[in-house]
Amino acid sequence: MAKFEITKSKSLFKRAVCAMPGGVNSPVRAFKAVGGQPVFIESAKGQYLYDVDGNRYIDYIGSWGPMILGHNDERVVEAVTKQMQKGISYGAPSSLEVEMAELMIEMVPSLEMVRMANSGTEAVMSAIRVARGFTGRDKIIKFEGCYHGHADALLVKAGSGVMTAGVPDSSGVPEGCAKDTLTAEYNNLESVRALFAENYNEIACVIVEPVAANMGLVLPEEGFLAGLRKLCDNNGALLLFDEVITGFRLGIKGASGYYGIKPDITTYGKIIGGGMPVGAYGGRKDIMSITAPLGNVYQAGTLSGNPVAMCAGITQLRILKDSPEIYTHLDALGERFRQGAARIFTKYKKNIQISGTGSLSCIYFTGSEVHDYRTAKTADTEAFAKYFTYMLNRGNYFGPSQFEAVFISDAHTERDIDKTLEDMEEYFELYP
Ligand SMILES: *Cc1c(COP(=O)(O)O)cnc(C)c1O
Repeated sequence: MAKFEITKSKSLFKRAVCAMPGGVNSPVRAFKAVGGQPVFIESAKGQYLYDVDGNRYIDYIGSWGPMILGHNDERVVEAVTKQMQKGISYGAPSSLEVEMAELMIEMVPSLEMVRMANSGTEAVMSAIRVARGFTGRDKIIKFEGCYHGHADALLVKAGSGVMTAGVPDSSGVPEGCAKDTLTAEYNNLESVRALFAENYNEIACVIVEPVAANMGLVLPEEGFLAGLRKLCDNNGALLLFDEVITGFRLGIKGASGYYGIKPDITTYGKIIGGGMPVGAYGGRKDIMSITAPLGNVYQAGTLSGNPVAMCAGITQLRILKDSPEIYTHLDALGERFRQGAARIFTKYKKNIQISGTGSLSCIYFTGSEVHDYRTAKTADTEAFAKYFTYMLNRGNYFGPSQFEAVFISDAHTERDIDKTLEDMEEYFELYP
């Protein structure tokens, strides 16, 4: 099959780089990790993206998670269109906000109260503030390789090992903002225990992606999440699950339900907005009650709880809640993808492996078993880039970085997965 023509995308990108930093509004879209240039999307439907040059791609990003039903689900579009006729933003309470909060509380056992925000970043930033306000402590523990949005305190490099205090990962972040962020190793309880010991009575919370989906896809090992729960309890710290990706993706109760661990605070984004910009944090009532106007931890938003966004989110969440078969379908497609890929890697004896659970997967171009940031970084990013480009040119749209997860939606079919596996096999046949 010939390489896709992307003439119009190329000319758009030329204009884009003059008008926007890197030509994009979020860095990973710029394809810097894989070379080449991004394609510009004209429309999306179901499991497909269509670019401005008329090429069709099977989409394995799903807008980085939100589009779990596939693009432009008719039920969501209809609900949103109806709401638009009634107003786009009120800046005053609407029944939709009550419905959304009640729905989330009904679906997730650990939620007793919820506050809506406009992005995952905002949700996490606010949740950390609440954890600090509630405990009266400043320090937080995060894990190397976990992403929690781009708030100052969370852009912390963990380069020089486990127990080093924060060094900002981005310029423009004052050291003061990062110095209270301590980093531990994912799947290593000992590294967390050591930080608690060194910072006795100073840790406000431990924040973790219960399934790490921002360094590829790393699963929590047996006992890891339960161990964190225990360490937090023993040290008077809160356990914060960042479920911006895993929330309502690993089943209707998210990762906390999936693994049976009850966090004190949970953050959401992506799926709960149905494609609209939404974030949320929620948890125990006594903790949430310190948020303004009830308590003195300030948090606000002009567009928070926006009626159109709530409408999209509620519609998508209701569909998920009422259709358990969606998760069965997602799990089956995920398994089909992983087993098919594993078969190909065995056949061609590649030093490659596939990890994942449910609709989340990652192909790591490394021979080492991946269980944390350090082992994920052993992946050969150049080999990934070559594979990525080949797959894209055959209509398979994956995240343009080795360290992004593969997302499957309910709109995908076995045929889509098989087509992608055929292209994958062809690639490894050509480049053994
Ligand atoms: C995407 C993501 C965020 C940030 O959400 P935005 O909506 O991009 O601000 C935070 N945490 C996790 C785990 C994420 O995957």
